[in-house]
Formats: sequence, structure tokens, C-alpha cells
Amino acid sequence: MFEQSNTDFAVTPNFHYSELIHSYTAVRLGLDNTPDAATKQHLIDSCKNLWQPMRKLLDKPISVNCGYRSPAVNKAVGGAKNSAHLYGYAIDFVCPSFGTPKQVAQFLATQLPKQGIKFDQIIMEFGAWVHIAWKAPDGRQRGQILTAKKVGGKTQYVAGVQ
Ligand SMILES: [Zn+2]
Repeated sequence: MFEQSNTDFAVTPNFHYSELIHSYTAVRLGLDNTPDAATKQHLIDSCKNLWQPMRKLLDKPISVNCGYRSPAVNKAVGGAKNSAHLYGYAIDFVCPSFGTPKQVAQFLATQLPKQGIKFDQIIMEFGAWVHIAWKAPDGRQRGQILTAKKVGGKTQYVAGVQ
């Protein structure tokens, strides 16, 4: 078993660093989920520039299901090969006291552009959680809004929140 870092800190008023690197899969399988220094900085930058402003707009507690994923963890969860999670740019979260993942995604898809808050992707995934990425692995901020659905066991992406 790898030890979780004992040097937790508040990245922003509503996010602790430990939330951004926690992985149940890593704990369960005994996989290391410690980012390198550059990736740690991506997590901090994403949090300050997107996740905290987003949290402020929602004005309700959010629960981070998944943030950073090491290559081993990403493989174990069947993540996309070039997932933004690998780079510390994405979180998957829910905000049940605000609404369903669909309601949360619809709200953010409207409000983030209105507030001039940049992002790469908002993806409503399988009706179960919202994936939000500050940047793509190559640094782009495309402002994409998508819905991921399972069709015949395969993930398909459609435009918008539906
Ligand atoms: Zn995700």
C-alpha cells in the first residue's frame, strides 16, 4: 500500500488538495496516485481558475468522485488514453443539493461563458456525474459542452447537455 500524502492543504476556500488526488480505485488496488510536480501545479491552477469559481456559482457543496489519475489508475478505471485526468486538468463531481448532474451541467454550460470563465470541456457523463476540465492535455480551452452515453457498451459523445 502506498501512503496518502500527510501534507494536505486548502488549495482554495472549498477544495483540499487531498480531494483532488483521492482515488477509491487506487486505495482498493494499492496503486500509487501521486502526481509529479508539474501535474500537481495543474491541479492547483485548475482549482483556482475553474473549480473554485464554479463552486462559487453553484453555491452548494460538491463531491469530487475523481480528480487526478495516475496512468495505472486511469487504466484500471478504463479511462480514455489521453484523459485530462492524467494531467490534473479534470475532475468528475456531483452537487446533489444543487440538482441532478444534468441540471448542474446545464447551469454551468450557461453560466461559465456568461461569467467569462474559461474551460476545455463540460461533459455530462452517463447521467451520473459531471466531468469538467480546465485545459486539454495540449493546453487548449475549447469550451466544449458534451454528453457521454453508452450505446451498445461503447461510449458515444453528443453535443450539448441532453
Ligand atoms: Zn472525468
